[in-house]
Amino acid sequence: MNTIDWKNLPFGYFKTDYNVRCYYKDGKWGNIEVTDSEMITMHMAATCLHYGQEAFEGMKAFTGIDGKIRIFRMVENAKRMQNSSKGIMMAEVPVPLFEEMVVKAVKLNLKYVPPYGEGASLYIRPLLIGTGGEVGVKPGKEYLFMVFVGPVGPYFKEGFNPVKMQIVRDFDRAAPLGTGYVKVGGNYAASLRAGERAHKEGFAASIFLDACEKKYIDEAGPANFFGIKGNTYITPDSKSILPSITNMSLCKIAEEIGLKVERRHVPVEELSEFDETGACGTAAVISPICQIHDRDTGKVYNYCKDGKAGPVSTKLYLKLKGIQEGTEPDTHGWVTIIK
Ligand SMILES: *Cc1c(COP(=O)(O)O)cnc(C)c1O
Repeated sequence: MNTIDWKNLPFGYFKTDYNVRCYYKDGKWGNIEVTDSEMITMHMAATCLHYGQEAFEGMKAFTGIDGKIRIFRMVENAKRMQNSSKGIMMAEVPVPLFEEMVVKAVKLNLKYVPPYGEGASLYIRPLLIGTGGEVGVKPGKEYLFMVFVGPVGPYFKEGFNPVKMQIVRDFDRAAPLGTGYVKVGGNYAASLRAGERAHKEGFAASIFLDACEKKYIDEAGPANFFGIKGNTYITPDSKSILPSITNMSLCKIAEEIGLKVERRHVPVEELSEFDETGACGTAAVISPICQIHDRDTGKVYNYCKDGKAGPVSTKLYLKLKGIQEGTEPDTHGWVTIIK
């Protein structure tokens, strides 16, 4: 293997040596299989292809300052994938099976886990798809759960540097009683047009509003939104956002460092009252937002005027990163150390 340029890795697909798979058939999960193939064969009438029975997860493993490899909040990801299964009527992956397969996928690709201090990590992608052939609209009877991994750099090329985002009203990614709360590909399909236009217009991502009234902030495409107002961490409460595990973790850390935490509707106009804003998710932990443009009203909200992330966002980011990399104590059992 050629040496990997850890510092310049993009956030993208990277071929590694192995992935692990498990098939659900006749009402039960089979044995875990290891393969070096990047391909999947399935029935042409598979329910993932026709009716969107597809859910995924995104998590990361890090090399800590002590050289140990840590996976962040694996059980939370397992539980969220079960929730996604319920949401679109797929077989549920038992938490222990999920854990076993994730750990196995990491262990089989240890040489791809970036060393400490390179700003890179091993991205872990669990995927669950309906593979059984059906033509009538109904949940399938067969499923494939697989886990592949690959080293990645920062999601937004800016890393922990501020990005610009755009509020849109002419697209929704999810409806209030739809599937926004589960991590399924269909939500991403629905967000592509807004996202690509935002990129073309010079923004890192679009911010969606509640689909009903277009009054409140929902989330930022692939990441949750938060704002800091004085001593308070505020993040939208909405039925159509995906419950980010990063956001959940930041809320906990925020409380621990003495901030007040509010989960509630966030009206668009409140953007002018925030001292800091950011997007959060596994990919970036926090992407500080320096500017939010409202595409319809032309209004521009400015943050981090010196071009740098604000003090509260920085503190939260460093704490969370510290837990992931073993420089801060893991007091909540968020981390699984690979033996
Ligand atoms: C995965 C995802 C997030 C971030 O969730 P994390 O668990 O923090 O990675 C946010 N929004 C959407 C729509 C997502 O799919």
